[in-house]
Amino acid sequence: NASSVPILELVKVEKFFGSFQALHGVSLEIPAGTVTCIVGPSGSGKSTLLRTINMLEPIQGGAIFFKGELCGEEVRNGYRVPVSAAKAREQVLNFGMVFQSFNLFPNMTALENVTLAPRTVRGLSREAAERAAIEHLSRVGLADKRNNYPNELSGGQQQRVAIARALAMQPEVMLFDEPTSALDPELVAEVLEVIRSLANDGTTMVIVTHEMNLASEIADQLVVMADGRIIEQGHPRDVLSHPATERGRAFF
Ligand code: ADP
Ligand code: MG
Repeated sequence: NASSVPILELVKVEKFFGSFQALHGVSLEIPAGTVTCIVGPSGSGKSTLLRTINMLEPIQGGAIFFKGELCGEEVRNGYRVPVSAAKAREQVLNFGMVFQSFNLFPNMTALENVTLAPRTVRGLSREAAERAAIEHLSRVGLADKRNNYPNELSGGQQQRVAIARALAMQPEVMLFDEPTSALDPELVAEVLEVIRSLANDGTTMVIVTHEMNLASEIADQLVVMADGRIIEQGHPRDVLSHPATERGRAFF
């Protein structure tokens, strides 16, 4: 039964940078429509984990499956080999990524930032891309800012445009890497509100965050990483009451 296959499954993922091992056999299941929050001290491998999922980093061991299909690799004549560039481009579209630094194109309006990839990668007409973009900008509360350039927007508004831009590609899984860490404290709430509403809509999300309140409110599973390993995993209410997490909490 298809619904019992997780949308994303990591099996004993190993990641090396030269001789340094950043991920030590990380296994994780993400059911469709759920929110997974990842916490842990700086350098524990959280960003590396997201980057391996998004195929920005090749892995050296284990496997990543999207709906049961190997990601970034395939089996040929009994050997695992990287997928073709064309296949990789197709697979990577399953994931939308939102970074700490919003990385909007400064010389494009909010609308142009959101329509660029749907037009160039998906081949949508300008009209269709703009219609969809306005819907996505509305979803993050910014339809009225569509003709503004990034430098005319606050950090929180820019990050909301970045979220709309990721949504516009209609990814099956949204990956967030510390989406509020670059924001002034008074701008954090508006971005958290957008993330909350996506969670309520049933968007599958994997969120690296220091916002423990958000994590405990919206996470179906909370994952605690340390030194390239998952050290705690479960429902936030269970994980947060665990002594190891209490000790680690000083770092979050
Ligand atoms: P986190 O996001 O949890 O702060 P990272 O995933 O960024 O941690 O990094 C995990 C470890 O891997 C750190 O020790 C970091 O220095 C190392 N690392 C990350 N990216 C690279 C890279 N491109 N080259 C070498 N080492 C890296
Ligand atoms: Mg990081």
